Amino acid sequence: MSGKLQGNIVVTGSNRGIGLELVRQLAQQVKEEETHLYACCREPEGSQAQALRELAAQHPGKISIIRLDISDEESISAAVQAVSEHIGDEGLNLLINNAAINKPASPAPLSATEKKHMMDVYETNVVGPFLLAKMFLPLLQRAAERDSPENNKGDTMSCRRSAIINISTLISSIEKCPESFSVAQMYPYRTSKAALNMLTRCQAEDFRAHNILVTAVHPGWVQTEMGGDQAPLTTQDSVRGMLSVMVSFSNKDCGRLLDWQGGAIPW
Ligand code: NDP
Repeated sequence: MSGKLQGNIVVTGSNRGIGLELVRQLAQQVKEEETHLYACCREPEGSQAQALRELAAQHPGKISIIRLDISDEESISAAVQAVSEHIGDEGLNLLINNAAINKPASPAPLSATEKKHMMDVYETNVVGPFLLAKMFLPLLQRAAERDSPENNKGDTMSCRRSAIINISTLISSIEKCPESFSVAQMYPYRTSKAALNMLTRCQAEDFRAHNILVTAVHPGWVQTEMGGDQAPLTTQDSVRGMLSVMVSFSNKDCGRLLDWQGGAIPW
């Protein structure tokens, strides 16, 4: 299907990088009466969230900034509660699990990697999205069950109806590992994103019965703090691509790993 994303949309890690651009482009695309964006970040009042606060001020009524640290279960619970109170009966249409970390700093060779890096990265990149999906499930189900002809009802899944998008990466691919390993070992990051792919696959099977789509998306190599200056893609181009691909997702895309242009990446 074509058109724009709409409904109640949660984006994690939205104070900078790809997450901030997701909120910016979504805010530009959507109509206030059709959509509300829940832009999550660790410190809504801090200097790191200045750009997000300015963006929210440019779009009055469209963006709520929600405090969320995805490595902290209590923070996740409080954020879900805050979104739930705001949403009421409508349900949550789209959860974009974007926030993630990469430790130690790239290229992260084995010699520089400690147990703590492995644990911290797994906690943020896998356990965070796992808990968010688990706690948001009732709201996602509510959205999937609501009857609106625009939202592709029946047994059709879509990002307009009810979906979880997990932002993964090309370097999570086990099959493609030999092509990139020598440039960036990144044991914690690669293994965490491979686990996120399995989480995506499991939840796709689990939530299919509720008509909730779950798909992993690689944003490309993007100029952000994580991607670095050498990256070929701007956040604008990456996000434009991802949003147009996401709006086209249907049943056939559930449980897959796709890139920002819609191309399939092997597990
Ligand atoms: P950035 O490092 O630029 O931004 C990461 C975001 O995640 C920040 O908003 C950061 O918030 C947030 N974050 C980190 N830890 C937590 C936490 N515990 N709780 C809440 N928020 C947190 O990364 P990108 O924008 O580049 O990456 C976005 C997504 O894209 C990630 O999932 C990444 O793995 C993926 N990706 C990126 C690529 C690239 O080339 N850039 C390539 C492939 C995948 P804070 O400011 O508080 O730290």
